[in-house]
Amino acid sequence: MTGISHSKAPASPPAQASHAGGARDRRHFLRWTAAALAAPTLASLDGGACGAAFGQAPVYRREGAIAKAVEVLLPRLRVPLSFVIDDSTCLVNMGHYCMPQFATAWPERDIYRKPWKSWPREIPDSFVREFIDFCDAEDVKGKYSIVPYPACVGWVDRELPGWSRRELQASLKLVRDRVVPRFDIHPEMITHTRVIDLKTGRPLEEISAATMENSYPRNKLSVDELAAYLAYALRVLRNCDLPCEGVTTPGGFGNMVKSELALAVFEAVRDVYGAELPHYFKYVEEGLDTRVRLEHVREPLSNAPRVTANVPAATGDWFGGWDGDRESEGERYASDDASSGRMVELIERRQPAVMLCHWPGMYGHGGRQGFEDFRRVVRALNRKYADTTQWMKLSEMGRYAAARELTRVAELTDSSLSLEAPFACPQFTLALPAPATLESIGLRGGAQLERVDELRQLKANAYWLGQRPDASRRELIVCFDLPKGDSRLEWK
Ligand SMILES: [Zn+2]
Repeated sequence: MTGISHSKAPASPPAQASHAGGARDRRHFLRWTAAALAAPTLASLDGGACGAAFGQAPVYRREGAIAKAVEVLLPRLRVPLSFVIDDSTCLVNMGHYCMPQFATAWPERDIYRKPWKSWPREIPDSFVREFIDFCDAEDVKGKYSIVPYPACVGWVDRELPGWSRRELQASLKLVRDRVVPRFDIHPEMITHTRVIDLKTGRPLEEISAATMENSYPRNKLSVDELAAYLAYALRVLRNCDLPCEGVTTPGGFGNMVKSELALAVFEAVRDVYGAELPHYFKYVEEGLDTRVRLEHVREPLSNAPRVTANVPAATGDWFGGWDGDRESEGERYASDDASSGRMVELIERRQPAVMLCHWPGMYGHGGRQGFEDFRRVVRALNRKYADTTQWMKLSEMGRYAAARELTRVAELTDSSLSLEAPFACPQFTLALPAPATLESIGLRGGAQLERVDELRQLKANAYWLGQRPDASRRELIVCFDLPKGDSRLEWK
């Protein structure tokens, strides 16, 4: 339960920043204003090498006039869409199991006095299958949490009391086979309820806001201490043969150590999985700048910069809440004809549109109203914006942002473009001044690009020549799988 998990009024002002349960205190709602863009939290800790701190000119533009002529566009010129699912795991209904633990930790909060015993303890794999069937049909992609020790019920790499070993194994296999191809898998810390003592593997004895992951830590922790906690969660998923390049914070986890958290994500994900470009999900952006933030960019001009991608969601959870006990309001994402709603607003402005939900809300105690609304929203968006959007994983969005900010233009001539890319990037899309004549274009030693007549046909290894309605010049727009390292696009 992250984000606006308990809120029926997402536009209300923030609740106390330190508690876990209120409308706005689980996830920080950020508006990256011009002032915020210059703030040190988004720049690099080690100073100097903060060229790609969000909001600053991309590094490649520093190369002078040649780079000004080259513009990195959205992948395939399409607005990225993504679907973030929090509080999912294997079988365990987090709404049912978290509620009594939250009620104990925050006895003063009425929102935790709910009839959780009457709610299903399980969200069955048949529902996961149905959900993924739909995502396959509509090409939905995003992020799916697997809480490793969900609400302390059991360890997904060992035993899940209440289910047979065979059921747990089948559930994990379903995630590996069907969910992984479309969704990044993230741990959402270890339990999403109690803080675990890493030395003993047991929940800390005291039960209070200070020992709940949603509001942990209540004092400064070092990057190493945070990274150890994250790595503990990641190792459980690795034991399950689940791939992972990022983490999700449960609610307000890390609110007091935001800068350290971004570094800890890098250290932990790289340590456990060796991932090249770690990312995380923690924030909900309520404003219009919903782009990925690159944090702690170190050695941006080297061929192996170290960077953490912070991928924000851009909506509330309007599909039924973290506990599955709220009315779904799907039209807040998009109306049935996609003429209004937050997703529509962002797509129209060509800003990344990442929608958020919680898995128990999709299931709705078995009533599935959130899921029904989700289907309506996706169908409406895909119908209206089939040619101008594409669904992406959070890791893919993070990678594109890193390539956009950190790829350098080494040389632009009348017949070639040389690039130095620290990260490979599928569907890298650039606009260049149109050459006077163009017979063929391709990557040296690599793919030839195929001409398309319409921009909506743009795909990897294709190009388009012409003048866009809003452009001041004729352009050559190229889309290709950018290789890591040096590459050269050549045309004649
Ligand atoms: Zn959560």
